[in-house]
Amino acid sequence: MIRRSSYLNHVHVGDGTTLLFSGISLCVDLVPRDYWDSMRKDDFSFLTREEKEHLLNRGHLTNLTRAKELEAFKRQARYIYAKNTEITKKQRRASLCFILTYRCNLACAYCYQKTAYCKSPGPPLSEKQVEEILTKYLPEMFPGVPKKNLSFLLFGGEPLLPANRKSIVRILRYARQHSVNVIASTNAIHVPEMIEFFGREYGKIQEVQVTLDGDRAFHDTQRIPVSGEPTFDRIISAIRMLKKTKASVLLRIHTHPHRMKSTQRLAEFLQQQKIVGDNVKMYFSPLNDFQKCNREDMHAFKRIFERISQRTHIPPSSNLTFLKRLLEMQESKIFLKTRYCTVGSNSFRIIDPRGDIYDCYEEVGDRRRRIAAIADGKLKYTPLRKTYARRTLLNMPICLKCSFALFCGGGCAIRARKQTGSIFHPYCHQNKEYIRDTLKMYYLLGRTANLDFVKKT
Ligand code: SF4
Ligand code: SF4
Repeated sequence: MIRRSSYLNHVHVGDGTTLLFSGISLCVDLVPRDYWDSMRKDDFSFLTREEKEHLLNRGHLTNLTRAKELEAFKRQARYIYAKNTEITKKQRRASLCFILTYRCNLACAYCYQKTAYCKSPGPPLSEKQVEEILTKYLPEMFPGVPKKNLSFLLFGGEPLLPANRKSIVRILRYARQHSVNVIASTNAIHVPEMIEFFGREYGKIQEVQVTLDGDRAFHDTQRIPVSGEPTFDRIISAIRMLKKTKASVLLRIHTHPHRMKSTQRLAEFLQQQKIVGDNVKMYFSPLNDFQKCNREDMHAFKRIFERISQRTHIPPSSNLTFLKRLLEMQESKIFLKTRYCTVGSNSFRIIDPRGDIYDCYEEVGDRRRRIAAIADGKLKYTPLRKTYARRTLLNMPICLKCSFALFCGGGCAIRARKQTGSIFHPYCHQNKEYIRDTLKMYYLLGRTANLDFVKKT
């Protein structure tokens, strides 16, 4: 008995063809769209014997029962998890994020740092604390990781406030001495006063992420200080300065519910002004769920996504570049996701001025959610560290049945907890749409470049 695989996914390319991509065999095939239209109705009568065999071999069709296929998928997920763990151990890489301060010069309406402590924070991370972290606690946090395999993130609040200058200088000196990459996530307001910190070489901030909320009119209602003063023009001017430093600049564009036109105008502005390109790239980060969007919003989003991909040759989604490799894959290789992000992976830590250590950005400042703390000169872990380590697909029964599981990894743990009470529940957000749209764009871009990497049925 042949049926459609429970792990079969598809995306329409838009020219009468459809990409089938399997979440279990990881095979990608291009078929005429009417093939898919019949297949989704479980009608396989139009297929020749060879075609049926081909689709069976590629994992799009199966003769396994649902229960047996689920067992096969669990075996596959366990194998990939073991391989990912082995690769991570071999690579011996780690990142430390410094919360230089919880203070911020802006007061964005949607900011997630809303704990009482974040609103009324204590002193920033001092130069002395930075010194201690670098010399004493860093090796303890990441045992066996060579210094050159480290990367540092500067985060806040707003990390580039003038009061943090000395601590930043100390971090950059260490980075120069030990060839450590440094990344900063900033609102860019103080960039002009700190522009000498940015550049390509070690000892500089080599990568910087700056957020925009839409075109000038909308952005200036969102990303503003308490006084309400506009920031769009200041941020754009800072981005132009950053571009000249040759540091890699990542523009994180928040997409808001029912504000797609504003996103579109911003994307056009960034392109017309030649801000995007060379060392400046952009990606979309949704503050909205498609579930809450109307059809018009969704179509507008897809159009913008496509247009930007075509103009910049990179789909504007974050952490999905592995989908390009999925298309290029000649034989199976292991690179898929059994975790959504670094939470629980032991290769990423966030440290704040109180000596509290967290796994997730959205939990910083909430001491109940710390995974370790420095007290009396010692680093002590809390039970939460082990709970987070278990947040993999293997412990998420709903995700194990999802055809996107190995491309998604289970979604954001913290939003899942906030929404459902458990980190072991899925948080689908817009993950499926992003995966579909990104894969489609990589396919179209590859086809434009005459790469014939998808096997045609
Ligand atoms: S759990 Fe969610 S918010 Fe936290 S780091 Fe991961 S993706 Fe980000
Ligand atoms: S979070 Fe949602 S989309 Fe992601 S694997 Fe789980 S069920 Fe699938």
